[in-house]
Amino acid sequence: FSEDLTGKVVLITGASSGIGEHLAYEYARRGACLALAARRENRLREVADNAREIGAPDVIAVRADVANVDDCKRFVEQSVNHFGRLDHLVNNAGITSVSMFDDTDDVTIFKAIMETFEFALACSSQDVNFWGTVYTTRFAAPHLRSSGGKIIVLSSSASWLPMPRMSFYNASKAAIAQFFETLRVEMPEVHITLVTPGFIESELTQGKYLNRGGKLILDQEMRDVQVGLIPVQRVEECAKAIVSRAARGERYVTEPKWFRVT
Ligand code: NDP
Repeated sequence: FSEDLTGKVVLITGASSGIGEHLAYEYARRGACLALAARRENRLREVADNAREIGAPDVIAVRADVANVDDCKRFVEQSVNHFGRLDHLVNNAGITSVSMFDDTDDVTIFKAIMETFEFALACSSQDVNFWGTVYTTRFAAPHLRSSGGKIIVLSSSASWLPMPRMSFYNASKAAIAQFFETLRVEMPEVHITLVTPGFIESELTQGKYLNRGGKLILDQEMRDVQVGLIPVQRVEECAKAIVSRAARGERYVTEPKWFRVT
């Protein structure tokens, strides 16, 4: 059995590039209505236009920083006001951070990791990956409960693979995984699909993402380590697997080629 996504209302965070962008296109191909969020408004509008062209009957684009609780509330509220219901929430927005733990000056506030890279970034991977996901889920949960909807969560193989220089990122992804394993028990009426990709070519892994702020997020040495460990996959392939497997009601999207069989 595969869920018919025609006319279903799907919220996607981090839809302005990479996996999130291609998730929007996959859902659009299946006739879903979309509410897309990210910080780069222009990119988001382009993705919304493309999604309409591909087949989404209705798309809204909402500028939102998921590290900001009010933005998450507004994103969900605008979506519900516009569409009248929610069926899928895809918690995809994420950033990474690369630094040896010893180089992190102040571990009591996780934001310190960004300072070691001299990025003018407002948030850490904990803020975006963990708290952003929690906020959005909190506001969407009552609507998903009443529709018997689904939550799709982008964790990472980094949640179990001890990748050096990524301790904070890895920890944020492990926290999300365990958070949603617990929500499965607390909210049995909402189906949860936990996605743990390996290495997908995207702005996040190509370094373009943080190039906007200055330096590369993954230097060549780091990329070589990762690519040597995990087969590289394309965003299109990853997005297709996520949507079709979530629609079939699978609880985990982790292919053997994504490093671990669950
Ligand atoms: P990208 O950098 O291409 O996409 C990240 C998306 O998140 C962008 O749309 C970005 O948009 C958005 N985003 C970042 N920060 C915020 C914020 N504060 N508020 C709202 N949106 C935000 O990377 P990927 O597509 O690769 O990553 C998508 C998800 O998949 C992430 O959670 C990542 O951790 C996870 N993942 C990726 C892997 C990979 O190898 N690529 C492997 C395993 C997991 P904007 O900048 O416009 O806000």
